Amino acid sequence: MPGFELFGEEERQQVEIVLHTGVLMRYGFDGMRDGHWKARELEEALSQRMQVNHAHVVSSGTAALTIALASAGVGAGDEVIMPTFTFVASFESILALGAVPILVDVDDTLTLNPKAVENAITSKTKVVMPVHMCGSMADLDALQHICNKHGLLLLEDACQAIGGSYKGEPLGSIGDLGCFSFDYVKTVTCGEGGALITDNDEYYENAHKYSDHGHDHVGDDRGAEAHPFLGYNFRISELNAAVGCAQIQRLDRFLAIQEKNYSILREALSTVEGVIFRRVPDGGVENYSFINFFLPTEDMARRTHNALLDAGVDGCFYWYDNNWHYYRKWQHLSDQKTLGKLPQEVQHGLQDFSKMDFSASDHWVGRNISCLIKLGWTENEVRERADTMVRILKSL
Ligand SMILES: *Cc1c(COP(=O)(O)O)cnc(C)c1O
Repeated sequence: MPGFELFGEEERQQVEIVLHTGVLMRYGFDGMRDGHWKARELEEALSQRMQVNHAHVVSSGTAALTIALASAGVGAGDEVIMPTFTFVASFESILALGAVPILVDVDDTLTLNPKAVENAITSKTKVVMPVHMCGSMADLDALQHICNKHGLLLLEDACQAIGGSYKGEPLGSIGDLGCFSFDYVKTVTCGEGGALITDNDEYYENAHKYSDHGHDHVGDDRGAEAHPFLGYNFRISELNAAVGCAQIQRLDRFLAIQEKNYSILREALSTVEGVIFRRVPDGGVENYSFINFFLPTEDMARRTHNALLDAGVDGCFYWYDNNWHYYRKWQHLSDQKTLGKLPQEVQHGLQDFSKMDFSASDHWVGRNISCLIKLGWTENEVRERADTMVRILKSL
């Protein structure tokens, strides 16, 4: 998955252009920048590749999620439905606005279970935020249907699935808003960075203003610009954006490599009795950044993970025990461990995990193993890895 594996001449050239002009900021300094606008260039490439009207590039994926929510008017006390299996950024972005994260079960897609989503809707629900974990997507038709029926927004977190698609449409472009991360370990990286995409003019207008202190971006004198509403600073630098300009051009090549490597592993693992692959919703195409499979029991999954580690098969994860990706280790959220006071709406609205029944999520995540697909492997390395994995799985 990490685009940094294949850093090369393209990235260097792009960064050099920025260093040459010396304009590291995405706004202003028109005279000095020699016509180079790297953040804008990345936004154009991204909106084209994702077939949307607007893309706005920012400092991180977490920032993109926060801005997406803010742009759609989400604020104090609003409930946002998110999965039990994701990255901590999901609830961080929601909490940043004083909104309340409501955790909901995942199913064998390893993403939001639409039935569980419907059961969690209250009069305070504003947004459903599916997270396309480990390269594959939620059942977007079912979620869209629920959102339409209840008047909710659909916000896709496609940070781990850039380049995947659903019924012919790029992931991230299907909901009202979609977000990507370009942090150092993602398929496309800027070092640090993220983006939101949307077809909605109003959300886009809100997003670029909100992420730059409320600047209205009218005219060419920053100091004289008006501030129609309160904002914040989530800007990306031109240096980071320049790296992204090179990387986004290589996305389709990265996807082809991932698919090839994934296919070799998948074919090999298919020969092992008891191994079941994660379900990809009908019409979905993964971005092949991970291969995900279930074993018959939690105990077998944990033992398999340990055996893979012992055998030097790196990049395989047992998310069930992971500190960052599964609700079981999010006591800091459940116990409301914050440096300062939380808004009252959040204090009262947050779920107490010790009283929640997420056994449906445990059933799937507890039996799942998830292995990263690297870009830099030679075909021989993938085949050797496949053989080792099959040998370990069969021996257990
Ligand atoms: C990486 C990631 C994010 C956050 O991105 P950052 O750029 O690291 O802030 C959000 N959601 C998911 C699912 C991610 O994997």
